[in-house]
Amino acid sequence: MTIIPHNKPMPPKELQILTSLHPRMKLSTTEKQNYENLHKGFLGELKFYDLLCNHPSTNQITLFDLLLESNNTEFQIDSLIINQNTIFSLEIKNFEGDFYLEGDKWYVVGSGKEIRSPLLQLQRTEYLFKQILQKLHVNMTIKPYIIFINDDFTLYQAPIALPAIFPTQVKRFINKLNANSRKLTAHHTKLAKKLISMHLEESAHSRLPSYEYHQLQKGITCRTCSEFLSPINKIKLKCQGCGYEEAVDYGVMRSVAEFNLLFPNKKITTSQIHEWCVVISSKRRIREILLRHMTLIRNGRYSYYVFKKI
Ligand SMILES: [Zn+2]
Repeated sequence: MTIIPHNKPMPPKELQILTSLHPRMKLSTTEKQNYENLHKGFLGELKFYDLLCNHPSTNQITLFDLLLESNNTEFQIDSLIINQNTIFSLEIKNFEGDFYLEGDKWYVVGSGKEIRSPLLQLQRTEYLFKQILQKLHVNMTIKPYIIFINDDFTLYQAPIALPAIFPTQVKRFINKLNANSRKLTAHHTKLAKKLISMHLEESAHSRLPSYEYHQLQKGITCRTCSEFLSPINKIKLKCQGCGYEEAVDYGVMRSVAEFNLLFPNKKITTSQIHEWCVVISSKRRIREILLRHMTLIRNGRYSYYVFKKI
């Protein structure tokens, strides 16, 4: 059963903003690290999503990336799978390399560097999520698991009782879920919708660099490699870095979305987008594209565009 939105992984806003800033300004080492970690985590979720899509089940509801709050504490659930009597709360980790456990501490093999325990994170999430379910008077069992999705991950000294699904077990785990799923009712759908309605759009803990319009490099960024695109003819743009090509309309509209993400309080006007995209020399062309894809709010020389309501 599919319930929209949250039926597939969504990049957190922090990642969306960093993805957009990354080619446009110099990020500090910590900011870059944060960007790479978020990006890697998101790729892990996509990989898990693809595996689920390859083994679809009509008798369960899968939700991704819920940012919830319980007792004034924010927590994120990477994926929730709602079955007839059980809710699987999944923490998806895209860890790569060799790790080992010693007591309740997790370390990287070689460097011996301690990492934040995914188990503690899982337990914290379970505790907070249970409180939410209690408040909603939902009496279902929660089964929390850490899903290690990266094929190049190894964990030494892991106790057999660790609630972890290792890369070699993920497919079997999904098959087992499907085999045990029974018909869902309106209660399950209601619960899923309720949880979606409780999702927080923005985290109070996001660590974004401060940025201003004049600091950022203008242009249309490439979707695949973060270089900038330039026009090769009237209808196409091409990336000098990786050769990726896209229609001018599409590139401009992606840039409008980025502009709006980075500067939600600035008005979208022809002049503004002409300046933001840089490489489209004709203002008339920009106006045509905006008129085609957006709604014009007429107000003389202060006219601006808004996204069309779907
Ligand atoms: Zn490229």
